[in-house]
Amino acid sequence: MPFEQAIAKLKRYLNTLNCVYFANESMREHTSFKIGGPAELFIQPQSDAILADILSACKKWNIPRLVMGNGSNLLVSDSGFRGAVLCTTGGFTNLEMIDSHTIRCGAGVKTSQLCIFALEHALSGFEFLWGIPGTMGGAAFMNAGAYGSEMVDVLKCCYHLTPDGTAGKFSADQLDLRYRHSVYTDNDYSITGMLLRGSPGDKTAIREKMDDLMARRKSKQPLEYPSAGSIFKRPPNHYAAALIEQCGLKGRSVGGAAVSEKHAGFIINTGSATAADVKALIEQIQQKVFQQTGVQLECEVRMV
Ligand SMILES: Cc1cc2nc3c(=O)[nH]c(=O)nc-3n(C[C@H](O)[C@H](O)[C@H](O)COP(=O)(O)OP(=O)(O)OC[C@H]3O[C@@H](n4cnc5c(N)ncnc54)[C@H](O)[C@@H]3O)c2cc1C
Repeated sequence: MPFEQAIAKLKRYLNTLNCVYFANESMREHTSFKIGGPAELFIQPQSDAILADILSACKKWNIPRLVMGNGSNLLVSDSGFRGAVLCTTGGFTNLEMIDSHTIRCGAGVKTSQLCIFALEHALSGFEFLWGIPGTMGGAAFMNAGAYGSEMVDVLKCCYHLTPDGTAGKFSADQLDLRYRHSVYTDNDYSITGMLLRGSPGDKTAIREKMDDLMARRKSKQPLEYPSAGSIFKRPPNHYAAALIEQCGLKGRSVGGAAVSEKHAGFIINTGSATAADVKALIEQIQQKVFQQTGVQLECEVRMV
């Protein structure tokens, strides 16, 4: 079936599901980089059942689709996404205690909401997520981490849908959580929720730790500019930011994209950056760092 026909069919199907969608939606509005062309359809499914129906329809009609959370680790191309973007932030926002240590959490819950919820219940172990500007689904997918902790330390299991919409679950030992890697970075499943386990803590101590980590971020990271956080993964035995600085690349720019003067591991959008600018700058950095140090920098940000 031709693409346009398949999209028209999907639109009609979304109407029967009472699922709101936006056509030709600018991805600039949905990414922390403030970059990206239009998504053919931008959809925020409200429930597992609706997401399952949409996934199976996309599969049947051969429509490319992207599942995303808060768009804080995405670089979307200037030509946009020719397919359906399925964003979890419109649903999947359930948060509940299921016993004294365990939280059930939807994939669309923001990391900040989860941190506040854990604080209210005096549960420690989640403080590292304070200041990571994504959803819990994105954090599980990426095995997000900071200041010595990662999702692997708190994630007990994840619930997901397969590409044909079948529900399933992976327990901790099946999640293959490693540095910025999970089983989901290698398959095409959609995370719908998870169980998280914390340890009993003191509310004042938890709050102080969160405040301390946020203060460290604010002093070191260029949070006043749109970005996707660290653009490169940490290479074994090195720090990407230190290598970039050592190669004299701090402040280097292409169009509206620049290596931050404050933190060389960040590429910032100074106002009018395109995805092409960011990609060209990434390539320049990778080339120069490799020539001068022999280290190959690998992107952490996900290209769409
Ligand atoms: C200022 C700043 C600071 C940051 N600091 C950190 C940090 O300290 N540590 C860190 O690890 N990261 C950091 N990041 C990066 C980013 O916030 C994390 O990677 C975050 O976990 C991404 O979550 P998200 O919801 O925004 O995911 P998105 O950017 O929306 O998506 C990222 C990837 O996850 C996939 N994905 C998202 N949700 C789902 C789902 N439900 N099911 C299947 N796949 C899904 C997407 O397809 C995509 O491939 C930072 C980013 C910024 C802008």
